[in-house]
Amino acid sequence: MNPDRSIHDLLTEAERPLLSFEFFPPKTEEKVAQLARTSAQLRKAEPDFVTVTYGAGGSTRRRTLEVCGFLREQGFSPVMPHLTCVGSSREDLHQLADGLYAEGYRNVMALRGDPPRDQPGFQAHPDGLRYGGELVRLLRERHPDVCCGVAGYPEMHPEAASPAADIEHLKWKLGEGASFVTTQLFYDNRVYFDFVDRCRAAGIWQPILPGLLPAMSLKQVRRMISMCNASLPPALVRELEAAGEDEDASFQVGLDWVIGQMRELLREGAPGIHVYILNRARTGLAVALQNHFEAPAPKRERPGFTA
Ligand code: FAD
Repeated sequence: MNPDRSIHDLLTEAERPLLSFEFFPPKTEEKVAQLARTSAQLRKAEPDFVTVTYGAGGSTRRRTLEVCGFLREQGFSPVMPHLTCVGSSREDLHQLADGLYAEGYRNVMALRGDPPRDQPGFQAHPDGLRYGGELVRLLRERHPDVCCGVAGYPEMHPEAASPAADIEHLKWKLGEGASFVTTQLFYDNRVYFDFVDRCRAAGIWQPILPGLLPAMSLKQVRRMISMCNASLPPALVRELEAAGEDEDASFQVGLDWVIGQMRELLREGAPGIHVYILNRARTGLAVALQNHFEAPAPKRERPGFTA
């Protein structure tokens, strides 16, 4: 297997904003079949890279790697596995890192991770790591040519003491050798622009990819935002309320909202768009069409790898 292209290089050399999709490992046979259909359709969208999540508590470790392998077979490249610190000793993480490297993976989304559902909070393995930044360090010490992405929280990580402390921790995490940030989902672009401004003021210069998740219904979006601290604009609530129980109408509202967000983000200089597609092709394709063929020229200089 040829080594993957580094996303660091893609971001540095790209002449247009990047598009990436996030998959998750399906839990049932039916969902595996859905993933196969979705991925076949999404190949047409030609994303610049795709990522695969790593279940809470490391519960999907094997399936994350299987899905990565499957997506590679489907022709996606580069494929970026997520990796978390949860439940793993340093030795486990070394082995995982070496295994990924041997298989040609050169990009890893490095995360602390969320604890398993039956645990109240994050608990580090006795011989493990406490923070995403420590995982970046471990990965980069082990394999210096691996590109790491890290998570950023425009509306603050729920456990952070303050927005300023969260940004200082993000800066430290990037300083351990990460190349870019992908944000937690948000529905109000002002929180992204404000976050980017605060990051730049704090001396963070790496690209910050906005993460977008189309709302599928008011119930679904309320559940998602309750888990991650994101705010819900009243206008989006009104539109979803108006769609009521009509699933297609709700889906369209969610999609239109995200496409509106995307247009503004790209116009204002975002380095790309990361879509939480929830293994659904329709969302990814709609966003891809807008991104690749209708993306307006950036208004201001794109934040890149120049400090
Ligand atoms: P960290 O960066 O370690 O931060 C966690 C908390 O500790 C924050 O409050 C931070 O401010 C604080 N902190 C960080 N460093 C320090 C320090 N040195 N000293 C003191 N405090 C510090 N979860 C999964 O389980 N699997 C996935 O695949 C997954 N993918 C994700 C992808 C994206 C793009 C995003 C945005 C999130 C993802 N998550 C995933 C969720 C993520 O694991 C959780 O949000 C988790 O609670 C924090 O992970 P982190 O890497 O951001 O943590």
